[in-house]
Amino acid sequence: AEEELRQAQKMEAVGQLTGGIAHDFNNMLAVILGGLNLLERRLKRGETDVERYIEAARDSANKAAALTHRLLAFSRRQPLSPEVIDPNRMVAGMSEILTRTIGEQIVVETVLAAGLWKTHADAVQLEQAVLNLAVNARDAMAEGGQLTIETANAHLDDAYAQENATKPGQYVLIALTDTGSGMSEEVLAKAFDPFFTTKAVGKGTGLGLSQVFGFVRQSGGHVKIYSEIGQGTTIKIYLPRYYGEETANRPSTVTETAPRG
Ligand code: ADP
Repeated sequence: AEEELRQAQKMEAVGQLTGGIAHDFNNMLAVILGGLNLLERRLKRGETDVERYIEAARDSANKAAALTHRLLAFSRRQPLSPEVIDPNRMVAGMSEILTRTIGEQIVVETVLAAGLWKTHADAVQLEQAVLNLAVNARDAMAEGGQLTIETANAHLDDAYAQENATKPGQYVLIALTDTGSGMSEEVLAKAFDPFFTTKAVGKGTGLGLSQVFGFVRQSGGHVKIYSEIGQGTTIKIYLPRYYGEETANRPSTVTETAPRG
């Protein structure tokens, strides 16, 4: 519970945090300004072969724009608009965007449980969370590999719930497993921290897992990472089971009372 609280406090502080990204941003601006200076010099000399300077500047500007968008989306923390979700349908519907995002070298396998429960969550954010995890899996498998997306009905018992500062009960599980680099203990300990990244400047923002953590927490769920260096990583998202529809379809129950007399 203490760990969860610490994490929550950090999440609150994100709104005020600027130093961490200022550095990345400066680097991108430096590339743009440097490119413009070179461009100016070449043009003054009457050179026309300046395409690459324009390309480099545009590339860097696009990265900066992408960073601002992600930051804005993150800091806005849009109120969730939950709806009933069948995670199997969602995952199946994401196959195209997943292939486009993670490329053809990585095999994506989905193992969708029959009779899967539903959940009640913000569909856009859940898709974003799955995508963020898929991007991380891709980045961890530079030499190719396999990403397995699995769904299951899950029961978190009292012992597990206590140990992991969550509530016991029934959840739907969405798990992503990669055969990538895995994480060291140090990386694992900081993985959910906003702006924590081990990736190169302009490649990682350190906000992917923060989004996942924030969304799952706001949805009343639970997220857990299992990782082994050189073996790979499994990230499990548990979202609370939704009972609404079942209540409507449930056969009426009878209450038996012993006959008098
Ligand atoms: P980013 O991807 O922008 O770095 P994240 O918050 O998504 O930010 O991830 C933080 C860090 O956690 C990553 O930089 C990486 O070191 C580590 N990480 C996350 N997912 C994985 C994974 N599937 N395999 C190995 N390391 C990972």
